[in-house]
Amino acid sequence: MADMVSTLAWPRVTGIVSDLDGVVYRGKNAIEDAVEAFKAWQAERIPFCFVTNNSTHTAGDVVSKLRGFGLEAGEENVVTSAVTAAKLIRQTYPAGTRTYVIGAPSLKKAITDAELEITDRQPCVVVMGLDREITYEKLTIAVDAILKGAVLIGTNPDLLLPTPTGFEPGAGACLTAVSTAARVKPIIVGKPEVHMIEAALSRLGTDRASTLMIGDQIPTDIQAGKRAGLCSVLVTTGVPPFDDPSLLAPDFTVSSLKQILLKR
Ligand SMILES: [Mg+2]
Repeated sequence: MADMVSTLAWPRVTGIVSDLDGVVYRGKNAIEDAVEAFKAWQAERIPFCFVTNNSTHTAGDVVSKLRGFGLEAGEENVVTSAVTAAKLIRQTYPAGTRTYVIGAPSLKKAITDAELEITDRQPCVVVMGLDREITYEKLTIAVDAILKGAVLIGTNPDLLLPTPTGFEPGAGACLTAVSTAARVKPIIVGKPEVHMIEAALSRLGTDRASTLMIGDQIPTDIQAGKRAGLCSVLVTTGVPPFDDPSLLAPDFTVSSLKQILLKR
């Protein structure tokens, strides 16, 4: 492991982009090594930004949780798929664009904060995140709107989410139902796409080649990091990894973030 640490120290790491669930915490519980590692990097003044596919929490919710674990962070340190989705829509569509939202209150807040109009009447855009109150009626409105020309945007493609007792369907599962019925390919905002990584890089202002992407999932975190040109580190504290030779491999694998010793 000594080798890995010295290798990770080169090239010089100037910034960190990191996943949250399975990396900094598992559900409600902190992963102590990760919290200590982030504090050590913070003491070295290495900037970091978290990127989360979860659209059901605002950046403010995430910051409260991190502070509860003793990690000092601000909303500028958190990029969510909900806010990134809203910004992506506004790159193409003007303020007031009719948007149908299937998702949590945090996604609806991101959409209205971006000055888009939430409506189920003749929407131009359908955006879908995780909605634990999803109904057949909501799916019908989405499919019908898309067949009439609306664009389909998904906050993230995650099919399964771990729960304390097993798994529940993720946002990607319902997104697949709608995209399959309407026979369209959705625009995906979250990892493995690079939109959130690019948003994080522009906040950090660091060079991508000297920025680490840390995550616990190869199909999302590591693919996004590699595609965006970051040095990508898999940490085995979250979802158990599985071998898929069609996916890009991480540059490094660690079992604890404390193995990543960084000096400014
Ligand atoms: Mg994760």
